[in-house]
Amino acid sequence: MKIGLIRCQQTEDMCPATTDFKIISEKKCAFEGIDEDIQIIGINSCGGCPGKKAVTRAKEMVKRGADTIVLASCITRGNPIGFTCPHANTIIKAIKDNLKEIKIIEYTH
Ligand code: SF4
Repeated sequence: MKIGLIRCQQTEDMCPATTDFKIISEKKCAFEGIDEDIQIIGINSCGGCPGKKAVTRAKEMVKRGADTIVLASCITRGNPIGFTCPHANTIIKAIKDNLKEIKIIEYTH
């Protein structure tokens, strides 16, 4: 599995994504049970509210080899400060609509 990771630009100010990298390398949480090797193709943010750049950034990571787009938990679960993205569902729908053959994982941990 080759993943492109999208994170919240607001959270990027404080969070170095350490837990995301750890659980991906240890195949825990959203990655539990995945047998194949997991390679991170890239990590980018949504581009800032309301997250419109997430689609083009996801597309770019697909161009560079990602077969799965993963939204970091800062977007859909509000980690680490308990503040979920108010645009999460719109972002997910737009990525799904624009990248129909690509698998989407909606959280990391
Ligand atoms: S759109 Fe959502 S994910 Fe992007 S910066 Fe704003 S709150 Fe964060």
